[in-house]
Amino acid sequence: MFDNNRVRIAMQKTGRLSSDSIKLLTCCGIKINLKQQKLIAFAENMPIDVMLVRDDDIPGLVMDGVVDLGIVGENVLEEELLKRISQKSEYSYITLRRLDFGICRLSLAIPVSTIYSDITCLKNIRIATSYPHLLKKYLDEKKIRFKSCMLNGSVEVAPRAGLADAICDLVSTGATLEANGLREVQVVYRSHACLICRTGDINHIKKEVINKLMTRIKGVIKARESKYIMLHAPVNKLEEVISLLRGAERPTILKLAGDDKRVAMHMVSSETLFWETMEKLKSLGASSILVLPIEKMME
Ligand code: ATP
Ligand code: MG
Repeated sequence: MFDNNRVRIAMQKTGRLSSDSIKLLTCCGIKINLKQQKLIAFAENMPIDVMLVRDDDIPGLVMDGVVDLGIVGENVLEEELLKRISQKSEYSYITLRRLDFGICRLSLAIPVSTIYSDITCLKNIRIATSYPHLLKKYLDEKKIRFKSCMLNGSVEVAPRAGLADAICDLVSTGATLEANGLREVQVVYRSHACLICRTGDINHIKKEVINKLMTRIKGVIKARESKYIMLHAPVNKLEEVISLLRGAERPTILKLAGDDKRVAMHMVSSETLFWETMEKLKSLGASSILVLPIEKMME
C-alpha cells in the first residue's frame, strides 16, 4: 500500500547512471533492498522508496508529481522540458543539486570523410538523433536549417546505413564515434546527472527526509572531491610548502618528537595532489607525503 510519508525517488534501472545512483544513496547510509526485476525497492533504515525505471521516464515522473525526487541526466531532463514547452504541457520541477557523475556531452558528428570548416556545413543536411528538441534549439539559435531523423538507439550507425548525413549523440570519450568512422565537430550540450524534486506541497515529514538526504549528498560529494594530505616539512620552508598546496585549508601543524627543524602538517584539500606538486614539495625538503581519500564530511 502506498505510504504518503515515504519519499519516492526515481532512478535508472539499468544503464550508465544506475550504479552511480545506487552508490550515492548507499554512501548516504541508505540501505536499499534491491531485487532484480522489481520496479520498487524499499530502504530499510529510512522512509525512502526507490523506483527503478528507464531514464527517459524520470523527468516526467517528477514533473507530473508521481515521485518526489529523481536522479537523471540534464540532457534527458532538458529534452523533456523542451518537449513539454513545445506541447504546452506542465513542466515544473526544482533542481536540488548537480551530481558528480554521468558526465557527457551531446555533440554533432559527421563521417571523417566529410569536409567540415564551420557549422554552416551542416545546412540542410539530415541529422539522426534521440534529442530532437535540444538539437533544434541549438541549430535554430545558429540559424541553421536541417532535416532531422529521430532514432531511439544505434544513432552512430545512421550515416553508414545511409539514414542520415550526420548525427547528434552523447559522447564521453569519443571512442564510439571513432569506431564508427565519425568525427565530433560541435558540442550542443554539456551534461551531468542531477537530483531534481517535484514542485507543489510536500508534507513536513517528507521535507525533513529530503533535507537530511541533501545534507548527506552534499557531504558525500564534498568528501569525494577532497583529499586528506599529511606530510613532514622543514620549519623554515612552511610558507613555500603551503603555497604549493592550492585548494587546501589552513593546515594543522604538529610538533615532531625529537625534531625541532621539521613539523608534521595535516590538511584537507579540495584538489588532488599531482605527482609534479609532490616532487616540488620533496625538493623543498618535505617528506613522508601521504594523500588519503576521505570517506565522509560534514561542515
Ligand atoms: P534507458 O534504458 O534507461 O532508457 P539509455 O540507453 O537511454 O537507458 P544510458 O546509455 O544508460 O541510457 O545513459 C543514461 C545517461 O547516462 C545519459 O542520458 C547521460 O546522461 C549519461 N551518460 C554519461 N556518459 C554517457 C555516454 N558516454 N554515452 C551515453 N550516455 C552517457
Ligand atoms: Mg533512455
